[in-house]
Amino acid sequence: MSNKTCPCCQHQTLVETDFRGHEIDVCRQCGGMWFDHHELNDVLSAYDNGHDDVDFNALLGEPLGQVERACPCCSKPLLGYHLLKEYHVEIDVCHDCEGVWIDQCELKEVKESPRIKDALDQLNKKVSRGSWIFQFLTMMPVEYNVKPHRTPWVTWSLIALNSVIFFAYFLDFELTLKVIDQFGSRPADFATGTNWWGPLTATFLHGSVMHLLGNMYFLYVVGDNIEDALGHWRFLAVYLLCGLGAGLISVLMNWGSTIPSVGASGAIAGLFALYMLWFRHASLTFMVFVWQKKLSPVWYFAIWLALDLLGMIIGGDGVDHWAHIGGFFFGLAVAMMLKDWVFERNPLLTMLSSPAAKLQR
Ligand SMILES: [Zn+2]
Ligand SMILES: [Zn+2]
Repeated sequence: MSNKTCPCCQHQTLVETDFRGHEIDVCRQCGGMWFDHHELNDVLSAYDNGHDDVDFNALLGEPLGQVERACPCCSKPLLGYHLLKEYHVEIDVCHDCEGVWIDQCELKEVKESPRIKDALDQLNKKVSRGSWIFQFLTMMPVEYNVKPHRTPWVTWSLIALNSVIFFAYFLDFELTLKVIDQFGSRPADFATGTNWWGPLTATFLHGSVMHLLGNMYFLYVVGDNIEDALGHWRFLAVYLLCGLGAGLISVLMNWGSTIPSVGASGAIAGLFALYMLWFRHASLTFMVFVWQKKLSPVWYFAIWLALDLLGMIIGGDGVDHWAHIGGFFFGLAVAMMLKDWVFERNPLLTMLSSPAAKLQR
């Protein structure tokens, strides 16, 4: 037993407890913890949060003034602080003793605070001249998201596979027609069972260089983060499932049609929904003429979906809109089913999605 009293419960004496090799003071009633001078730095430096030499005071955000809690060491009032400048969870500090009081519910976030700070620094970057030029020239969005932890080799392999398949037939016009005829998704043939494989094989075919480039760019943008969240094999399974789901919805909605459909767009539209639900903290830039703006994935994909619906109503653009829309809603169902599991496995996603994280767009 120490002679320190819990700043929260007030009459409860703190108990010295081993915490990763450090003797810290814990309240048995509320689970709060008192870290003496330097103890928190040592604990955070030893913890796997991407940093080995943490200076907690340098991370702290805005001071919030005195709180109605007394320092367990010197009994002076503690001072409230935002955990980080851009992460508004409140923790209590004593300036005299340089100790820190952490409530039990804040411990997870405090341990991850160096990683949260890195992530928010990435996410809150402003659009630059480089991002403007890129989007102006390519008409493709620029992504602001956390770098994935693991190498996205399934995403890269899918991009390589799609490209290899495309260039294996594309230079030969006759062969291109033959391949699309055989492996494209044609609803009329699907109905008779003559090419039941169409909805899946069509996912790996593209009709033009621009079609391939556009799809592969979006796969690259959203794929790496989703693969990181799910793990390699589960990501591959989800990708194929979305491709198949989109293909089948397209077949049903275009029932009897003899026009073959090809492209990874349906599978990628499914990934859009996963990205939208799991990476709400990310941003994708949207450009109107010369005006570029960072948008949340919800807004970005809402606009994308609206344009797709509009294209379907107007028609005549040769795009399989049902594969996009079907893939997206199929992906949305998958995203909702897996959300709790994914967030539980990726605490950083939970923290970045919480209202405590202050995002700048
Ligand atoms: Zn307590
Ligand atoms: Zn003190």
